[in-house]
Amino acid sequence: MRQVAIFGGTFDPVHWGHLIVAETALYQVSLQQVLWVPSYNPPHKKAASFQHRLAMLQMAIADNPAFSISLVEQKRSGSSYAINTLIDLSEVYPNTRWYWIVGLDTFQTLPNWYRGQELAQLCDWLIAPRILNSKDITQSELICQQVEQQLAKQSTVIRWQLLHIPLIGLSSSLIRKFCRHGKSLRYLVPESVRSYIAAENLYANSGEEN
Ligand code: ATP
Repeated sequence: MRQVAIFGGTFDPVHWGHLIVAETALYQVSLQQVLWVPSYNPPHKKAASFQHRLAMLQMAIADNPAFSISLVEQKRSGSSYAINTLIDLSEVYPNTRWYWIVGLDTFQTLPNWYRGQELAQLCDWLIAPRILNSKDITQSELICQQVEQQLAKQSTVIRWQLLHIPLIGLSSSLIRKFCRHGKSLRYLVPESVRSYIAAENLYANSGEEN
């Protein structure tokens, strides 16, 4: 059976944090492949065009043969929901053991996802520690256990493990903020992504505050 992980996100834009997380998952669990799934129409976010986000993602992962992009969310109309993504991908990739890569912030919200309980049991969860508000990293394990217990109360049993990565204080919102303030993106995103953002003049006036 193949072991494949889904890494869903807005990737607006993709940054080194995403890439380190995906690479760590690949080796920590002996995955054959990480499928990056850019959301087409993120339910809770206003994002740059799908074409721009996709172009940057393609450049960022180009040199890693174990990384590929799935356009499953583009093909489906309406909002992007994780459960539909997994169901659609399972049809394309039979005989696969599925993993789902998420940051701790995203994992915390799992009990509230659309058909979250059902989804929670269909794959193994690979959770990337992330600084949440001012909480200490040692709380990552505790937060995951709380999510597990919350789901258990709803008779949902999940399999999860933390990814062993250094804490990376990078986010797409930080990158967009740097753009608005005219700060350098060098060493925060792959060089190809940095050039693309500059050439397309992305995020300079993204309408966000600060
Ligand atoms: P934004 O700042 O716009 O909310 P983001 O940096 O969180 O974006 P997404 O594309 O929304 O990027 O993230 C995709 C997934 O990657 C999410 O599960 C998120 O938690 C995780 N992730 C992103 N950056 C990091 C990071 N630095 N460390 C750990 N996980 C991360």
